[in-house]
Amino acid sequence: MNIHEYQAKQILKEYGAPVSRGVPVLDAAEARRAVETLGGPVWVVKAQIHAGGRGKGKFKESDAGEKGGVRIAKSEDEAVAFVEQMLGKTLVTHQTGPSGKQVGRIYLEEGAAIARELYLSLLVDRETSRISFIASTEGGMDIEEVAAETPEKILTFSVDPATGIQPFHGRKVAFALGLEGQAMKQCVKLIDTLYRLFVEKDCSLVEINPLIVTESGDIKCLDCKMNFDSNALYRHPEIVELRDETEEDPKELEASKFDLNYIALDGEIGCMVNGAGLAMATMDIIKLYGSEPANFLDVGGGATKEKVTEAFKIITSDPQVKGILVNIFGGIMRCDVIAEGVIAAVKEVGLQVPLVVRLEGTNVELGKDIINKSGLDVIAADNLADAAQKIVKAVKGGA
Ligand code: GDP
Ligand code: MN
Repeated sequence: MNIHEYQAKQILKEYGAPVSRGVPVLDAAEARRAVETLGGPVWVVKAQIHAGGRGKGKFKESDAGEKGGVRIAKSEDEAVAFVEQMLGKTLVTHQTGPSGKQVGRIYLEEGAAIARELYLSLLVDRETSRISFIASTEGGMDIEEVAAETPEKILTFSVDPATGIQPFHGRKVAFALGLEGQAMKQCVKLIDTLYRLFVEKDCSLVEINPLIVTESGDIKCLDCKMNFDSNALYRHPEIVELRDETEEDPKELEASKFDLNYIALDGEIGCMVNGAGLAMATMDIIKLYGSEPANFLDVGGGATKEKVTEAFKIITSDPQVKGILVNIFGGIMRCDVIAEGVIAAVKEVGLQVPLVVRLEGTNVELGKDIINKSGLDVIAADNLADAAQKIVKAVKGGA
């Protein structure tokens, strides 16, 4: 799960990490009050979306211009004007994709005087099963780019969970970043703080880009991206509260309410499958026969008729879907339950696109029988390859 920059900075602040003073706002009146509270003389106006690259991003609407989602204001009026220009607009960055993201919240901060921009992040390294640090002197730019062009400027190491975070880790980072004096001491403390935060909050990523050295020689977290392990959210109600549903795909949000494993994709064939492995195989074989899946959907092992109905409704609500492939291997799941779910959903929402159903396993005859007797225009398939070929053919304009 993802949160906004201002929320991540609030958590950093609670842990004692250095951040600028700031106030999140939803409209111009709030912005006016926030600007006065912060006092200036420089304010930073930051669009809050779940994507990076805002500074270099562009608004789709012309009046917000080419100026990007992070702007420096030199007067109260200018700061409020920037807020008004950004709110409600669609910001396109290299991370949002071409459709961009609508800006519903703005974070106003006191401006920091930057001497150097650095990079620091923590993530779960699956290879070593440890938390890894990445640090670089090249802050404010994409770390992927730094890794490709000047990999020697990146320091990475992982922390042994048995001994935990140690002062030498902090000194190692400070040395690599060329920090001295007070900044060095602050860095050692920050590394300890971030590791503790990462573990306690069950993060999967904490990225501070840029971490800056101010002109007065202190370090500060100027931007922060924080992701959390969704499987650990049950023990963090305070994080769940930070969820911004407007940032999420409405179909994925709906699916999560019914405990369906659903991920929206860009293709044209909607898939309903039981089991993550079978779902992956189904997506692969759709690609093999020349089309693209519109989603990943695993209805799970013990899905009820209601769950299947909801899953079907979510698939058909996607205007990109030109055909549906239901591929079920009934182990724990019974084929007749799937058949009933599909029929119930079609009765409720109608069926505008071709539907191929491949059932196999427990109660398969009963399932097929239910579908045959339903009078629905369903194309039956015998195996996975047959099913994929049939739906691709139906979508591409064949018989
Ligand atoms: P991103 O573009 O989404 O990664 O947003 P950031 O929060 O990283 O801001 C982008 C850039 O804006 C930073 O790399 C800085 O160069 C600049 N910036 C952000 N905050 C400040 C600030 O307080 N003072 C100054 N001078 N520049 C800032
Ligand atoms: Mn950034």
